Amino acid sequence: MLISPEVRTVLEHTAKPHELFERIAPVALPMAARFRGLTVRETCLVKGPAGWAEFAPFAEYDVPEASRWLLAAVESAALPFPRPRRDDGVPVNATIPAVAAHEVPAIAARYPGVGAVKIKIAERGIASLDDDIARIDAVRRAFPDAAVRCDANGAYTDDEAKTALTALARTGPLQYVEQPVADVEGLARLREWVSIARLPVPIAADESIRKVSDPLSVAALGAADVIVVKAQPLGGIRAAASIIEAAGLPAVVSSALESSVGLAAGAALAAHLPLSEAAEGLLGPRPAAGLGTAALFSGDVAEPALLPHDGSLALGRVVPDESLLREYAAGPERARFWTERIEACWEHVTDGSRDDYAI
Ligand SMILES: [Mg+2]
Repeated sequence: MLISPEVRTVLEHTAKPHELFERIAPVALPMAARFRGLTVRETCLVKGPAGWAEFAPFAEYDVPEASRWLLAAVESAALPFPRPRRDDGVPVNATIPAVAAHEVPAIAARYPGVGAVKIKIAERGIASLDDDIARIDAVRRAFPDAAVRCDANGAYTDDEAKTALTALARTGPLQYVEQPVADVEGLARLREWVSIARLPVPIAADESIRKVSDPLSVAALGAADVIVVKAQPLGGIRAAASIIEAAGLPAVVSSALESSVGLAAGAALAAHLPLSEAAEGLLGPRPAAGLGTAALFSGDVAEPALLPHDGSLALGRVVPDESLLREYAAGPERARFWTERIEACWEHVTDGSRDDYAI
């Protein structure tokens, strides 16, 4: 279920990465604030016959894991983006970090026109549940018409999650709470409890969706109402779309902290997904994606970066600016690391003896 037939054909006709990638451009992009423990996001842009693509596995990922991200890069470098079902842009959510309530209006001002807001909660050592509630109330005042999502990043124990979800529900309607507990079984138990308690709080799985098989196990266990998906770790736009279809759950497309080049592929996935009745019921007629993350960078490869206008991202490929590629080029040692990584991942995905990439 991982390699789409189109990408498989590309790989069958290409012996080595340099036959597909005419350019390999590793970059180190500065972040506006620490995120996921990073102040610099290293990633690698590649150029193929269809245009620029991104290979963005985090540095600590091993070859098998990074190989799925390579499939996404191969797809975008070799093939056109799939046809969008909607071409009026992809709405994105604003993201409010775990700040004090009084800081919310200043952050909200950066996101004019958004229809959904994601609020970070349960950040241990930074904010208590009362702080979280105060932040949510402040967000509701700042965005009176926006759908509210909360993201706990798996931080609650089972019992904390029950207390928190009960309190969160009292603040007003919630589109969903993302990853209240860390593991899939815990999500399934919590979702069952939510249903018995008749709490109007849909649950989304984010960190639980990392491997290709995860959307299916989340669906099989009834662990979530919504899955948060990223194109790169699922092996590209076409592979992700087929995995989402197989899971049969409403999906919210999110970024893997890519540069604007990779975000464009995420937007292509979001615009390509069919909108089921269940998805529309839960997420509205134009579901907001978590693709507004170019705002987290203080430097990007494109000018302008792929940022939302009136709450939406424009569709289409992003072409990096040559002077920005030079400005943010990773050093020669890191360039060697990325070239070798691409070669190792290429070997991994084209090794005919492996069946873990079979569709
Ligand atoms: Mg999340």
